[in-house]
Amino acid sequence: MQPKKSVRDYIRTIPDFPKPGIMFRDVTTLFADPRGFRICIDQLLDPFADQRFDKVVALEARGFIMGGAIAHQLNVGFVPIRKKGKLPGATLEQPYLLEYGEAVMEVHDDALQAGERVLLVDDLLATGGTAEAGVKLCERMGARIVGCAFIVDLPDLGGRKRLKDLGLRVEALCA
Ligand code: IMP
Repeated sequence: MQPKKSVRDYIRTIPDFPKPGIMFRDVTTLFADPRGFRICIDQLLDPFADQRFDKVVALEARGFIMGGAIAHQLNVGFVPIRKKGKLPGATLEQPYLLEYGEAVMEVHDDALQAGERVLLVDDLLATGGTAEAGVKLCERMGARIVGCAFIVDLPDLGGRKRLKDLGLRVEALCA
């Protein structure tokens, strides 16, 4: 019998995307497989089995795919954090640094209540700049980040350390 595939086995790496030299981790092949998607969602939640959450907050765009499924499984609400200019209501803005230049993430300013317990999710943790912007937006509304969950962590890029230095719990399924 073939050994069962792990989450990592469902992810493919595309060289030179979006620019030369980048090895892009493509999680669409994981999401496209019914078993892959299911074990991904289950395993993201496993380390937090003893925790209670009020909201799942996810980062645009692939984070929404996992975030929606996780919120459904936990029976809690879902909050999207989007790139600037996409949300229709009043927002909080959080600038963050990219490799070249700056970008801005936004969230509806009434999306979280003070004291709410949040699970922050995204597909991949690299430098941690995107996740940190998300954390700051949640914390500006008085919410508490109970944990951050990613499918892929690229530890050499420093994101895990960056989030841990903020006192956050970081969980990832593979490197
Ligand atoms: P960071 O802000 O440097 O940690 O980059 C993480 C963000 O970039 C996440 O929102 C990811 O979706 C995206 N990202 C960076 N590299 C990859 C990749 O190889 N595959 C998928 N997403 C990536």
